[in-house]
Amino acid sequence: MADCIFCKIVDGSIPSKKVYEDDKILAFYDLEPQAPVHVLVIPKQHICCANAVDESNADVIAHIFTKIPEITKTLGLDNGYRIVNNCGDDGCQSVKHMHFHILGGKKLNGQMA
Ligand code: AMP
Repeated sequence: MADCIFCKIVDGSIPSKKVYEDDKILAFYDLEPQAPVHVLVIPKQHICCANAVDESNADVIAHIFTKIPEITKTLGLDNGYRIVNNCGDDGCQSVKHMHFHILGGKKLNGQMA
């Protein structure tokens, strides 16, 4: 999708530090990490947000979750991690291409909001 920075990361026109890639998804380090390890996992296809998940694209979201154990193992997050998805304005979603934050590398704050 034009003007989507994560679509541009997928097509390589914006560089990223990749952690994992296959035909459906990409994982790369967040530019402004909020934990010792902070990686974003995205579908390659443009899905704006959790509100846009439906039967036609649910397979790629399921695929992300089947790959997260492999990705987090590569990152050394053996003691656990947090998965965050922000949706919409109240959820403080700044990039409108659905993504899951993987945060870890320390004992995280127990507060969610
Ligand atoms: P959210 O606020 O949930 O939409 O998260 C968007 C995330 O994308 C933020 O944590 C940003 O630091 C991150 N981000 C924005 N641009 C880039 C980029 N070019 N490469 C890596 N991470 C990015």
